[in-house]
Amino acid sequence: MLEKYLLSMKKNFIFVEIKNRIVMNLLLISNSTNFGETYLAWPMTQLESFCEKNNLKADSKIVFVPFAGVFINGNPYPQSYDAYTARVKKVFDEKLGLKNFVSVHEVENKIQLVNEAACIVVGGGNTFHLVAELHRYGLMEAISKVAKEGKPYIGWSAGSNIACPTLCTTNDMPIVQPASFNTLNLIPFQINPHYLDPHPEIDKMIKHGGETRQDRINEFLAVNQNMKVVGLREASAIWVVGEKYYLKGGKKMMVFKYGTEPVELEPNAEITSYVI
Ligand code: ASP
Repeated sequence: MLEKYLLSMKKNFIFVEIKNRIVMNLLLISNSTNFGETYLAWPMTQLESFCEKNNLKADSKIVFVPFAGVFINGNPYPQSYDAYTARVKKVFDEKLGLKNFVSVHEVENKIQLVNEAACIVVGGGNTFHLVAELHRYGLMEAISKVAKEGKPYIGWSAGSNIACPTLCTTNDMPIVQPASFNTLNLIPFQINPHYLDPHPEIDKMIKHGGETRQDRINEFLAVNQNMKVVGLREASAIWVVGEKYYLKGGKKMMVFKYGTEPVELEPNAEITSYVI
């Protein structure tokens, strides 16, 4: 009897696990804007296909999280949230035809808004501030839950970093102290957005003696030896469709693992076996 019960529990557990892995739909973008280009220009084709694939229509409720934006167009926090929302809303309206765009900072009941969303969009900026605010409002759990249940999720920069187990591979300064470094935990590896290759000739020219990005990632791996870190270069993105991971955009991607040589992956290919 007990055995039968345990077996059914196990089956349920496996079902929930499989269901979670099968239904997730994430678009994790390294950067919103390439140097010298207009806002969200390079990822527009990715955004278009993601919205089409997820059947997002003009009136689908797009819920934006502006909490990483602490200084936007000269507006300091908290006015920065209005400026940030206006900036992203304009692009979603004019370029993607998505007219029903609401930010979590505009409503009292933020968790309800997240639950009603057709898609969650998390913009970049300061990752520590983003994470602090998400924990403060109970939104880290709320967003994690709905994304794991299949609600489409789009993030760029800090918004991609928080899809990982923790914020520990951000490039940002800790300008505030979040209640926890734990983040949405939608994917099992860490992303370092805006990944930069070493440029010894520039370092020599400017006499820069600090760590390279790879040095910093190696420090993370030295104390988190079972984790993988993905170095996501500018103009690239990871699509997560259920259990499968794809690298999009025009750049190769680095995968770092403690004690092994980094692997470089080609764009526009499935990368699942390298990252999980
Ligand atoms: N500050 C970056 C962003 O644009 C995140 C990072 O570099 O870690 O969101």
